[in-house]
Amino acid sequence: MVRAIYPGSFDPFHFGHLEIATRASKLFDEVVIAIYASPSKRLLFTTEERIDMVQNMLADLSNVSVVTYTGLTVECARKTNASVMVRGLRNLADFQAEQQLSWANHQLAEDIDTCCLYSSHELAYLSSTILKEVAALDGDYDQWTSPYVQQALRRAYASKNKSGS
Ligand code: ADP
Repeated sequence: MVRAIYPGSFDPFHFGHLEIATRASKLFDEVVIAIYASPSKRLLFTTEERIDMVQNMLADLSNVSVVTYTGLTVECARKTNASVMVRGLRNLADFQAEQQLSWANHQLAEDIDTCCLYSSHELAYLSSTILKEVAALDGDYDQWTSPYVQQALRRAYASKNKSGS
């Protein structure tokens, strides 16, 4: 039985993340989406909102579950009894960052391996940052994430515009 975690901020979850999670669910017996509760980047959504959106988008995958964590990702992997960490690679910048992270994580936990999956080229440009930028400017982002997340983005930016922040 091989359990993998797929860690990230997922602020918010989009079709690029979904594609990696779906492919990982076929490669491993169990996949745990590990939502990093307090990354250094500024978040649009609370941890609870991010959990809710991930659960909604992954409802059809029976061997995928969701947890949140703070602290080291390797510790989260240990706590969830996962021996693999899945990451998605879009481009050279991702490759360099993930290679460095994987080397550092290997120093911290030799028993946990990183498995990188290439994004499909159709989704390689997509990031949560781009999604939020287009949503903030009221562009069209229906093709990038689920209707449930689209609604959450509309609500988030409607209340931001009202409060002027
Ligand atoms: P993090 O803050 O850890 O980078 P993200 O939510 O931005 O968290 O991304 C989580 C993981 O999903 C990372 O491995 C990232 O490379 C991958 N990822 C993000 N967008 C895509 C995409 N469009 N296609 C494939 N993988 C992606």
